[in-house]
Amino acid sequence: MSEFEADLFVIGAGSGGVRAARIAAGHGAKAMIAEEFRIGGTCVIRGCVPKKLYVYASRFADDFADAAAFGWRLPQEPEFDWRKLVAAKEAEISRLSGIYEANLRKAGVEVFEERAEVLGPHEVRLTRSDRVIRARHILVATGGAPTFHPTIPGLEHAISSNEIFDLATFPKRLVVIGGGYIAVEFACVFARLGAKVTQIFRADNVLRGFDQAMREGLRDGMTHAGIALRHDVLPTAIEKTADGLRIALSDGGTIEADQILIATGRKPHTQGLGLEKAGVALDSVGAVKVDARNTSNVESIHAVGDVTDHINLTPIAIREGHLLADRLFGGSEQEVDYHFIPTAVFTTPEIGTVGMTEAEAREKFRCVDIYQTSFRAMKATLTGGAERVIMKIIVDGDSDRVLGVHILGEDSGEMVQLLAISLKLGAKKADFDATMALHPSAAEELVTLRTRSARYIRDEA
Ligand code: NDP
Repeated sequence: MSEFEADLFVIGAGSGGVRAARIAAGHGAKAMIAEEFRIGGTCVIRGCVPKKLYVYASRFADDFADAAAFGWRLPQEPEFDWRKLVAAKEAEISRLSGIYEANLRKAGVEVFEERAEVLGPHEVRLTRSDRVIRARHILVATGGAPTFHPTIPGLEHAISSNEIFDLATFPKRLVVIGGGYIAVEFACVFARLGAKVTQIFRADNVLRGFDQAMREGLRDGMTHAGIALRHDVLPTAIEKTADGLRIALSDGGTIEADQILIATGRKPHTQGLGLEKAGVALDSVGAVKVDARNTSNVESIHAVGDVTDHINLTPIAIREGHLLADRLFGGSEQEVDYHFIPTAVFTTPEIGTVGMTEAEAREKFRCVDIYQTSFRAMKATLTGGAERVIMKIIVDGDSDRVLGVHILGEDSGEMVQLLAISLKLGAKKADFDATMALHPSAAEELVTLRTRSARYIRDEA
C-alpha cells in the first residue's frame, strides 16, 4: 500500500482548486479537497457570479428609462425589490455550488466540508474531524479575502464585498471607499438600483493602471449616472449616528450613509494555514511564492489563483489549477501563458480590455500608434441619452502588430473576449482593416478605424 492516502490534497474548493482536483482525478490520481465555507469559492458564492447577476438587475433601470423613446408606455413606475433579488441570487449560487460538488464527486474526488491546515510537506489536518491525511502533493487554493484599509477609528462599522450581497435592507445611502474593480462595480450597481452613492478614493481618478481613456470615460459615465466621485480623499473616521453612519474625510467633509463598503483590495488567504511551519515561503502580503509551474519552495506543496497574488482573476486560477494537474499526473509539461488576458470591469458603462495600455506600450516600444474613436451609442440616438462608446487600438508602429484594445461601452467584455483570440494570434492593424465590418454594430468601428489619432516615437538619444 502507498504511504500516501491521496495523490493530491487540495485546500480550498474555489475555481482553481476544484479544477485541479477534477483534472487530477481524471488522470487517475486519488484526489481529495477540503472547503471550510461553501463549495464554489469567492467567484461563485460572493464574487463574479452574484456580482454579474446584480449588474443585470441594475441595468433594467436604464432599460425602463429608455423604453418610452422606443414607443413603450409602462403602466406604472417600476419598483425594485431588493429582498427578491437577494433570494433569487441565493437560489442560483446554491444551485451552482451543488453542481460544483456533484461534479467533484462524479469525478471521484473525495470532498471534506471542513477546514484543512498544512502540517508538513506531505501532511494536512482536517480541523473538525481532527483527521490527518498524508498526500503526495498538496495544493493551496484558498484564494483571498478583503482587506480593510486604511485603518481608521470605526472601521468595524463598515462592510466588505463579502457582506454587501446579503444586506437585510437596501442601503439608500451608500459610501464606497476605494477606486478599484470592486469599488466601481458596486458603485454602479447600487446607483442604478436606487441608492445615493458616493465613492471616495485617494487617487485622482478610478481604476489606476487602466488605460487613461477608459478611466476618463468611466468617470464621465459614473458622474452622469449620479454617482458622486470624490477623488484625492481618504476617510479618517466612521461613527454611528441615530439613523446610520457618518464618515469623516481628509478634506474636512463628512458624509451620512446607511452602509459603508470598503473595497481597498484583497489579500491572500494564508493566515493560520500552517504554511510557514511546513517551510513554505510567503511574500510580504502572505502570498505563497511559486515558480512558473505553481510550485512553492517545498517541492510537494503547490499554489494556484489569488493565494499567489499574481493575477487575481478566476480564469487564471482555473488555468493554473488545470495545467498543474496535467503536469503532476498527466505527463504534460505545459505552463500557463499569461499573454493577452482579456478582462472586463462590469460597471455601466462596461470596460473591456486586452493587452497593453497606451502608457505600457509607450514604455516598451519605440513607435506606438493610437487609433481612437468616441461616438454616441446607436441606442442613445432615439433616447437622447449621453452614453458614449470609446474604442482605442494600440499598435506597434514598427511591426503593425496590435498591442492592446480597450473598449468602454455596452457589451465591451463580450467583444474583448473574441478580440483576445486575434491578438494572441499576432493580429496586425492591417488584419483589422482587412476584416469585413458587421453593420450596424458598435464593434464594426474596430475594423473601420482608419485614421491614426496619434503616433509616439521614443527619443532614443
Ligand atoms: P484593487 O486592487 O482593484 O483596488 C484597490 C483600491 O483600493 C484602489 O483604488 C487602491 O487605491 C485603494 N487602496 C488600497 N489601499 C488603500 C489604502 N490604504 N487607503 C486607501 N485606498 C487604498 O482591489 P479590489 O478590492 O477592487 O479588487 C481585488 C481584485 O479582485 C482585483 O485586483 C481584481 O483582480 C479582482 N476583481 C476582478 C474583477 C473583474 O475582473 N471584473 C471584479 C472584482 C475584482 P490606489 O489605486 O490609489 O492604489
